[in-house]
Amino acid sequence: MAKSKSIIQRRKTKVIEIGGVKIGGDNPIVVQSMTNTITSNLKATLAQIRRLKKVGCELVRVAVNDKDALLALKELVKRSPLPVIADIQFDWKLAVGAIEAGVAGLRLNPGNLRKKEHIKTVAKLAFERKIPIRVGVNAGSLDKELARKYGTGAKAMVESALREIKLLEDEGFDLIKVSLKSSDVSQTVLAYEMLAEKVEYPFHLGITEAGTILRGSVISALGIGILLWKGIGDTIRVSLSAPPEEEIRVAWMILSGLGLRQRGVRVIACPTCARAEFDVIKTAQKLEQALADIEKPLTIAVMGCIVNGPGEARLSDIGAVGTPKGIQIYLKGKKLSLVKQKEALSTLINLARKLESK
Ligand code: SF4
Repeated sequence: MAKSKSIIQRRKTKVIEIGGVKIGGDNPIVVQSMTNTITSNLKATLAQIRRLKKVGCELVRVAVNDKDALLALKELVKRSPLPVIADIQFDWKLAVGAIEAGVAGLRLNPGNLRKKEHIKTVAKLAFERKIPIRVGVNAGSLDKELARKYGTGAKAMVESALREIKLLEDEGFDLIKVSLKSSDVSQTVLAYEMLAEKVEYPFHLGITEAGTILRGSVISALGIGILLWKGIGDTIRVSLSAPPEEEIRVAWMILSGLGLRQRGVRVIACPTCARAEFDVIKTAQKLEQALADIEKPLTIAVMGCIVNGPGEARLSDIGAVGTPKGIQIYLKGKKLSLVKQKEALSTLINLARKLESK
């Protein structure tokens, strides 16, 4: 997992550490997701966390929504291959229990956990154990008083975050990260920009309730992408109404699209047209599936013809270009061999596996 060159100037923030994963400052932007199994179902939850890790998730959040979830948490934390963050909504006692169970981080929603004394109790305990807290504001669950005063837009979200940050800071607590999530891209971007002027804490980015896989990916890429482009954001979660592994795939695509981080195989493929000399679409799809487990950053160009093909292929680690005589294979910018259409996919897979092990 290499950091690729990027022209983006990141916002200067404090650095926090969650279970050994550094967030903020010049550290790589961290990819997160959240399980959607019943947390107390240890077998299912751990299996999902393992699948998430396999596709590149670096931190995982689990809902701690009842006593059963809390009871399972200690074992979950012990066996999870990723640092576990407890998501707490209404019950401060669950936050205390989660800290005692050994979670690496907490997420508190200021709209749903409002009593000052409760937040202060949690902050005190988290401070003793050096457990970071995310102030996770969500436009859908804002404090009623703030919603009345400011509506549900950026201003209300920022105000909600600032109030909670103040409560934590009053306890001497500064292991904070902040998120300001809304399903509205413009309001989300505005909120993060406003808060970036006021605090130095790292930000967790996301567009909440973004929707099913296609819409959710597009909306998330817009919201998260705009903010990352402005240098704002230290960790991201793509919220999709889809298996959480898909969130991780999209998160990596956003990061690699902006040149912020690269992980795994990036297939560059042309859209095809009447000039295409082979089945680019099927080959590209099959390549992505077959090489989904590779962590090493690799770029493979799959191009239909010689119009743009040789140029893209030479810029990639591996390339395949349709020609009237067959599929021209490239390796590290140089022509390697000419293969038949039916051999193209297996040739590309074999080359990728060879590069993976180098
Ligand atoms: Fe069409 Fe060739 Fe361009 Fe692909 S590379 S879209 S086949 S012109």
